[in-house]
Amino acid sequence: MPPFKADLHCHSIFSDGTFSPEEILELAHQLGLQGLSITDHDTVNAYERALISAKDKNIQLISGVEFSTTHRGSSVHLLGYAFDVNAPSIKDLCLKHIERRTRRIEKILHLLKTHGMPLQKEDFSKESLLPNHPIGRPHIAQAMVKKGYISSVQEAFHSYLGDQRLCFVPGESFSVEETIEAIHSAKGFAVIAHPHLIKNEQVALDLLNMPFDGIEGYYARFFSHQEKRWIKIGERKGWIVTGGSDFHGTIKPNNPLGCSWVNEETFKILKTRCDQNNPTFL
Ligand code: AMP
Ligand code: ZN
Ligand code: FE
Ligand code: FE
Repeated sequence: MPPFKADLHCHSIFSDGTFSPEEILELAHQLGLQGLSITDHDTVNAYERALISAKDKNIQLISGVEFSTTHRGSSVHLLGYAFDVNAPSIKDLCLKHIERRTRRIEKILHLLKTHGMPLQKEDFSKESLLPNHPIGRPHIAQAMVKKGYISSVQEAFHSYLGDQRLCFVPGESFSVEETIEAIHSAKGFAVIAHPHLIKNEQVALDLLNMPFDGIEGYYARFFSHQEKRWIKIGERKGWIVTGGSDFHGTIKPNNPLGCSWVNEETFKILKTRCDQNNPTFL
């Protein structure tokens, strides 16, 4: 039996990944992963299909989602795990984020047009045009490549869409506190995502004093010294130390599925809570 591995951070076509839930589970199966959480941005719509596929492949699933927040002007990502996927607090927050994204995308498209790069609906993938789909900058980047304005998604971010670049629009923001509250109302665990990306020490300090339940200590292809810092902090606080690849399919080739993971002991803590909240995940 290979060692138990569960990847707790990946994105499907229901947000900005390029793999369907079925394709992610097939890949997880091929890689020998035994547990998984699909943490799409602002939606849990992947779970209906993922649950069927997971049962078929004998992979254990736990509910997951990723929310963007802002603290002292810095971007902070939160992961929610094991919450009730039908909880009103999660549904409401997802909907608010999708509305925020729609307004933001319109502004970005306007800016691109003024820079001579107009995009129309038909330039976007059919999944991204589905109702209640959290459309993001990666979708715009892909449309720009398809139109031939730039040669890669990376270039789109580097020259136009990345933070503070030519066509960057910050959009409206949500607080860390209200996001933790929504996850807790849905009886889930609130986790600080990829903490090494938080460059402002005061922001990091503030977060460590908030009512989180966990921290993402194992991330993508983290260098081990960085990893250890956050693992130690998480352990000292008695938090769950989570981990995952942040797999997005072909648009982020450096994050292969399963490159970061948690062991069975950690996974079980989340799985037990998830099953209490979601009978369909059993
Ligand atoms: P948004 O949610 O619209 O703000 O877009 C954020 C998404 O863009 C995240 O999922 C990131 O993975 C992706 N992203 C951010 N920077 C880059 C980059 N330089 N290259 C490719 N993807 C990126
Ligand atoms: Zn993403
Ligand atoms: Fe993130
Ligand atoms: Fe992510």
